[in-house]
Amino acid sequence: MAKPYKIELGEREMPTRWYNVLPDLPEPLPPVLHPATGKPVTPDDLAPLFPMALIEQEVSQERWIDIPEEVQEVYRLWRPTPLFRAERLEKALDTPAKIYYKYEGVSPAGSHKPNTAVAQAYYNKKEGVKRLATETGAGQWGSALALGGNFFGLECKVYMVKVSYYQKPYRRVLMETWGAKVIPSPSEDTEAGRQVLKEDPECPGSLGIAISEAVEDAMKRDDTKYSLGSVLNHVLLHQTVVGLEAKKQLEIAGDYPDIIVGCIGGGSNFAGLFLPFIKDKFEGTKKDLRVVCVEPEACPTLTRGPYAYDYGDEAGLTPLLKMYTLGHTFVPPPIHAGGLRYHGMAPIICHLYRLREIEVVARHQRAVFEAAVQFAKAEGYIPAPEPSHAVRVVIEEALKCRETRESKVILLALSGHGHFDLAAYDAYLTGKLEDYELPKEKIEEALKHLPKVE
Ligand SMILES: *Cc1c(COP(=O)(O)O)cnc(C)c1O
Repeated sequence: MAKPYKIELGEREMPTRWYNVLPDLPEPLPPVLHPATGKPVTPDDLAPLFPMALIEQEVSQERWIDIPEEVQEVYRLWRPTPLFRAERLEKALDTPAKIYYKYEGVSPAGSHKPNTAVAQAYYNKKEGVKRLATETGAGQWGSALALGGNFFGLECKVYMVKVSYYQKPYRRVLMETWGAKVIPSPSEDTEAGRQVLKEDPECPGSLGIAISEAVEDAMKRDDTKYSLGSVLNHVLLHQTVVGLEAKKQLEIAGDYPDIIVGCIGGGSNFAGLFLPFIKDKFEGTKKDLRVVCVEPEACPTLTRGPYAYDYGDEAGLTPLLKMYTLGHTFVPPPIHAGGLRYHGMAPIICHLYRLREIEVVARHQRAVFEAAVQFAKAEGYIPAPEPSHAVRVVIEEALKCRETRESKVILLALSGHGHFDLAAYDAYLTGKLEDYELPKEKIEEALKHLPKVE
């Protein structure tokens, strides 16, 4: 029989526990600080925003955390997701490298994001929460949470950045189909929104304003909590279901990755894939494992930013996280990979980069789409602009293998499909893709506004 193109697990083989990397880190993570006192935050500080179960997961030292049966039931709608061997791409590149990709585009929302949205909705429901408030840019996170909220009977209010609300109506319709209430931000529904509108009725909105609105909404109502789609430890934890599956699938294929490549916006999809593998690097069973994170040249958080305490949001409402950052006031150029336009990064990713356990590179939008089209032509699947950053670096590594005649095993995190991003492909194909240089001056300016921490 021919070698399989896709390695699939049965529903019964889906992981029943998430992997928590915190107890296995070579050094402990720096604490999260309260913005007013500069002291480490307590669970009580976070209680108005998140349910206790998630606050506990944020700092848990348990290596394995059970995935609740109710969450597994929803996961089984699309999980386990397939692992593909990209033989057609290998042929097209004439490389001896073996390329695999773990594909999260098969979820109803088209990305990895429902892995945490479903879990977060479940824990909120269990603690009596009736309503969730969140923000969304282009709508990837909002649609995932709308899906999760729908399954657990939670009302879901999504503050969607106003320009996207009007420019990208399809994800809004997706959210509304799953029962979420979507409102363009800035809105009249919150004090933060009204304030902005008073000064500038035509304000196109930003993620920072939308976060302020969602946080205010959650703080003001007893029945409502706030939900975040990336960055935090508990979000990365939920995403490890991806890597745990991939590990089993590669075992079936009889391979182990030499290089794992993924894109990082807040860090959740890629951490979800690589954390179960990097455990082997810490333990010494795969010392030379290379983990390569790819970020956009236009928002080069780890390759250009300092390692410092900063707010998680543009408005400066969240606790202070120790991370590589371009400054919370930094507004990146409008690249098509909306999910990678974030000034900070998951503290776990930053810590591992600081310890030089993982590598980070930045790539330009044009090179990214060139690779995306190459991938789509070879493999058929159309990657979202975000994981196309990783596709680019996978192709580069495979071409290096052609030079050195090494048949390295490369694992790619393909976090979502690009069906809602075809305008970006159109721009590339018609030669209208915008060029964005490294925004050096804007970064310098934003770094002046880092909060002062002792
Ligand atoms: C949101 C998103 C990302 C970026 O977020 P991470 O937390 O870094 O994963 C990447 N890929 C897709 C498809 C997304 O929707």
